Amino acid sequence: MAKVLCVLYDDPTDGYPTAYARDDLPVIDHYPGGQTTPTPEAIDFAPGHLLGSVSGELGLRSFLEKAGHTLVVTSDKDSDGSVFDRELVDADIVVSQPFWPAYLTADRIAAAKNLKLAVTAGIGSDHVDLDAAIAHGVTVAEVTYCNSISVAEHVVMTILSLVRNYLPSHRVVLDGGWNIADCVARSYDLEGMQVGTVAAGRIGLAVLRRLAPFDVKLHYTDRYRLPREVEEELGLTFHESAAELVPFCDVVTVNAPLHAETEGLFGDELFGTMKRGAYLINTARARIVDRDAVDRALRSGQLAGYGGDVWYPQPAPADHPWRTMPHHGMTPHISGSSLSAQARYAAGTREILESWFARRPVRDEYLIVDGGALAGTGAHSYSVRS
Ligand code: NDP
Repeated sequence: MAKVLCVLYDDPTDGYPTAYARDDLPVIDHYPGGQTTPTPEAIDFAPGHLLGSVSGELGLRSFLEKAGHTLVVTSDKDSDGSVFDRELVDADIVVSQPFWPAYLTADRIAAAKNLKLAVTAGIGSDHVDLDAAIAHGVTVAEVTYCNSISVAEHVVMTILSLVRNYLPSHRVVLDGGWNIADCVARSYDLEGMQVGTVAAGRIGLAVLRRLAPFDVKLHYTDRYRLPREVEEELGLTFHESAAELVPFCDVVTVNAPLHAETEGLFGDELFGTMKRGAYLINTARARIVDRDAVDRALRSGQLAGYGGDVWYPQPAPADHPWRTMPHHGMTPHISGSSLSAQARYAAGTREILESWFARRPVRDEYLIVDGGALAGTGAHSYSVRS
């Protein structure tokens, strides 16, 4: 029997919800491209309920306990002697989320003698030291595609909010004001702008598709080129690298995983090559950009706006400069954790666990590391240091 250690974000400050804004979710059984949404044998939760916080338990408790496994759920992951560190010592499986990442460092993996499986209830397993997972034979899996469209929607929302100066204008209303000029002195139309994505995988391509009707000019870079018919359909211009793409763009969105090739990609040097007044939207991972260079570029006017939802570390400390830098549209890490996405990543986590316990192969598209090497989606999209 396995001990499953699940690290989730805290419940709402006024307690776990007893009612919701809406009664149901649209039924989605396939993603673009045909991959099916998660197919667990059963679920023990109501889609549309809060599953990603501690009391939501990803809807896993009765499934695991009926099968004789132990489930420990905590949000306490970073303090000295945290519940996570204490319980990790004899855990067989860790389930964590990018929104509230339980950083599985090399030291922690070495200390977790029983650890065999690390599941990311979401997408993006960079909070797991993949080299250490490979070295210790730990399988890493994530629920590929579960929240890609959720993030793409957030990217489009953030682009429009920044370009149109939505958030400061909303603030004028909240503050009882009506100075139109204050609102519009930084407000533009997106129409006609050059918009580029660094990476055109599931999220990046979904962003391109959603932006095409805005009559913008679309650019992308990626390690592999998209099929020619997709380039033609969307009128895409391909660039060999981010460095080649950014000088053309009014808006840049980052949709690549964090790994050795992308860490620190956006710093003073790259910002210096962007058009003055460009917007940068990063919902991928914070460490793809240099924290202080973003702050400098906004203050100098080189960037007109920065938005996204990813920080380092998470949760971000109260004095993190991105909380107070000008012209930002940051949120906590929420874009991939809408109630809609939660239903999919909870079901996907259950599907992975069902396969694991039944000794069936985990879907290839969910695998990042397996058998001591990058595998499945991991082999395609990630790189390791060694
Ligand atoms: P995909 O794997 O579908 O796409 C990632 C793309 O990035 C792939 O096309 C990959 O190329 C490309 N890529 C990798 N390295 C580079 C590079 N050095 N330069 C250019 N392109 C590169 O993943 P998703 O689109 O679903 O997700 C992307 C990332 O977004 C995740 O890794 C995660 O970090 C983040 N994310 C954030 C969420 C949030 O809540 N904010 C939620 C979900 C994801 P190829 O495959 O061609 O090698």
